[in-house]
Amino acid sequence: MSPRAASGETARRLKADFPALEALRARDRGMFDSLVGVVQECAAFNRRHALPAALEIDRRVREDHDYFAWDIAEAGCGHGLFSLIIPERLGGRGGLAVAFSLAMEELCSACAGIANIFGAHALGLVPLLTSGSMAHWDTHLRETALAEKRGEPLIWAYAITEPSAGTDVEEPHFLTRARLSMRAERVKGGYLLNGRKCFISNGAVARWLTLTTCTDTARPLETWTLFLIDREMPGFSVARNEVKMGQRACPASELLFEDVFVPEDNVLGREGEGMDLGALLVLAASRAPVGAIATGIARGTLERLREWAGERRGGRRPLDEQSVQMALADMHIELQKSRWAYLNAALAFDRSLGRVLDSSLTGGVLRLPASLRAGRNWQRLMKSPLGRGIVNAVMRANTTGEEVTRALALASLAKVVGGDTAVQVTARCLEMLGTEPCPQRPWLEKAFRDAKLTQIYEGTNQLNRLTYYLAGLEGGLEVALPEPLLMGVR
Ligand SMILES: Cc1cc2nc3c(=O)[nH]c(=O)nc-3n(C[C@H](O)[C@H](O)[C@H](O)COP(=O)(O)OP(=O)(O)OC[C@H]3O[C@@H](n4cnc5c(N)ncnc54)[C@H](O)[C@@H]3O)c2cc1C
Repeated sequence: MSPRAASGETARRLKADFPALEALRARDRGMFDSLVGVVQECAAFNRRHALPAALEIDRRVREDHDYFAWDIAEAGCGHGLFSLIIPERLGGRGGLAVAFSLAMEELCSACAGIANIFGAHALGLVPLLTSGSMAHWDTHLRETALAEKRGEPLIWAYAITEPSAGTDVEEPHFLTRARLSMRAERVKGGYLLNGRKCFISNGAVARWLTLTTCTDTARPLETWTLFLIDREMPGFSVARNEVKMGQRACPASELLFEDVFVPEDNVLGREGEGMDLGALLVLAASRAPVGAIATGIARGTLERLREWAGERRGGRRPLDEQSVQMALADMHIELQKSRWAYLNAALAFDRSLGRVLDSSLTGGVLRLPASLRAGRNWQRLMKSPLGRGIVNAVMRANTTGEEVTRALALASLAKVVGGDTAVQVTARCLEMLGTEPCPQRPWLEKAFRDAKLTQIYEGTNQLNRLTYYLAGLEGGLEVALPEPLLMGVR
C-alpha cells in the first residue's frame, strides 16, 4: 500500500471506530486533523519498523533479557514517538491523554513491547507535567524533544513500585500500611536516597526517572515525595532486568539506590505532596492509555484472526461459518467497549488537568523567550514557595479535585475493561486457531503473553476495581489538588 493510501486508510478507520471524534471534528477540525496525523505517524512506524522487527526482538530478549533494541528506539525518534506529550512550544507534538491513547492503540496493534518503550517513557514525563514543575520544563522537556530531533533517544521512566510494596504505593489508604524499604533522608541541600525500586519499565535504559518515596517511613503518606533522578547520580545502579513473559522489548528493571544525593531543586512539587502529585494525578493520566494499549493488542489479534479465517482450507473459509462470524462480532463488541472506555477517560483527563496545561497562563509562560525562562531569576521564582503557590493557584483555577477524581475513576474503569478484554480476546483467538501451523500463530501467541501485563501494571485490575468503587461510586477516595499557600511553607 502506498503511504498516501495508508494515510487515507488510517483516517477512514479512525472515523469509523471513533464516531465521537468525528463529532469533535465539526467543532475543531484542527484538533481532529492533528489526532489523525499522530495515528498516521504511528501506523507508518509500525509498517517500517515495528512489524518487521517485533518477533525477532521478542525472541532475542527471551534468550538475552539484557538486550535492548536501540535501533528501534532510534527509529521512534524519526516518528516523534518520544515527544508525543511534550508541549509544542517546547518542541514536542503537544498531545495529551486522547492523542497519546490513540497513539498507543495504534502502536500496540503491531507490538505492545516496542510500543511500551514509548509508553513507559511518556509515563516518566507525566509527573513533570502534572506537577506543574515549570522550572524543569525547559531543561528536561525541551532537551528530550531536542535529543529526539537529533535521532538520539533520551528515555524516561517512572518508579514507584518497591520489592515489598506494589499495590500499596498506588493508593493512599494502603500506603499507610505499606512495608516500604526505600526512603529519602533529609540532608544539607537535599536528600539521600537508599533502597530499591523494582519492575521499572525502561529502568535499565532511562537517562532520567521520576520517582516517589517517603522521607519518614513512620509517616509515609504525609511525607510521600516526588523526585527527579538522573541515572548519572553517584550511588545509582541497575541491579537486574526481569525475565519477562510478554512485552519483552521494553525492559523491567530493579534499581538500586545507595546514598544517592538528590538536590532540593529536584523535588517536584513540595515534600509530602507525592501521593496526589506523584501518583494519583499521574495514574489519572496514564490508566486510559493502558486501556488503549490493551485495546491495541486485542485489535491486532482480531485483525490477524480475520486474515486467518478468510483463507480457504479444504475448499472452505472459517469466515463462512456462522459460529466464527458470531465469535468475531462478540469480540469486536468487547473491543469497541474498551475503546469507548479509554476515550471517555482520556477526554475526562484532558478536560480536567489538560485544561491546566492548555490554560492561557501556561500558554503565556511558554510563549516567553526560552532564554528568559532559563534565566536565574525565573528559575529561582519557579522553585520558590511563591512560584509553587502560583502554579497551584493556576491549577485550582482551571480544574477541581472532584473533576480529577472523576477522571481517575474513569481511567481505572478503562484499564479494567481494556486489560480484561485483551486477555479474553487473545485467549479466544488462540483457541480458534487450534493446532494448525500458520503465519498468524507466533503473533497470536505473543499477543496472548503481551496482554497479561495490561492487567498488572499501573495497578492490578483488582486495585483498579477498588479505585473505581472508591473514587467513582463510594466517595472514599478523593484526589486533592495542591494548596496554593504562598509563603512560609515547608
Ligand atoms: C513488567 C512490569 C512492568 C512494570 N512497570 C512498572 C513501572 O514502570 N513503574 C512502576 O513503578 N511499577 C511498575 N510495575 C509494577 C506494577 O505496577 C506492580 O506490579 C503492581 O502495582 C502490583 O504490585 P505487586 O506486583 O507488588 O503485587 P502485589 O501488590 O503484591 O499484589 C499481589 C496480588 O494481590 C492483589 N492485591 C494486593 N492488595 C490487594 C488489596 N488490598 N485488595 C485486593 N487485592 C489485592 C493484587 O491485585 C495482586 O493480584 C511493573 C510491573 C510489571 C510486572
